[in-house]
Amino acid sequence: MKKILVLEDEPNIRSFVVINLRRNGYEPIEAENGMTALAMLEKNPDISLALLDVMLPDIDGFEVCRRIRASGSKIGIIMLTAKSQEIDKVTGLMTGADDYVTKPFSPAELTARVDALVRRLGSDAADKPSYEISSGPFLLNTRNRTLEKDCKRLKLTQIEYLLMKLFMENPGRAMSREDILKAVWGDDFSGELKTVDVNIRRLRLKIEADPTEPEFLTTVWGFGYKWGY
Ligand code: CA
Repeated sequence: MKKILVLEDEPNIRSFVVINLRRNGYEPIEAENGMTALAMLEKNPDISLALLDVMLPDIDGFEVCRRIRASGSKIGIIMLTAKSQEIDKVTGLMTGADDYVTKPFSPAELTARVDALVRRLGSDAADKPSYEISSGPFLLNTRNRTLEKDCKRLKLTQIEYLLMKLFMENPGRAMSREDILKAVWGDDFSGELKTVDVNIRRLRLKIEADPTEPEFLTTVWGFGYKWGY
């Protein structure tokens, strides 16, 4: 369950927000002033999002926001501003808030904004898992050793997979046939350089639209090959 810090000094609004978050599957953590909010954040490093009221008895919500960002935290921050504080939207976003909700807000409005920000933060983190390498229309998954082109799975031999991995990890780098042979077949392999050419030719049949005019796996004349995308 995602933890959400709710900083709001008015008990009525706070409990209204807390109840709605809970109803939507979040775990709210309450704070009634700025300093408590900062202490709560320190105590709960797994808080993923904060709702910050602006007018507070001690330090204001913008200051809390500034201090959160100054600590290097990348949690989602939504400012809760009053209608009369139109200018606050600008100030809030400038101090590092991701979004703002104007009071009075409906439960549906608040949860929609929270859900949207949680999704956005989640997709940023999951943007590129470490086991995926993407390049143009290609997506190489090093965990299950598969290759997709335009979301369609291509059947590769293990050698072809290793070639793709080598090229996609070194985009734009011209690699000699000797280097390729060593990297894919290993130091002990005593085969000929022609082995590289033969396998590249077969790989091109699978990944290129026109293998005679390769667009991705290009030839560096007199030297070797390059992932040209
Ligand atoms: Ca207030």
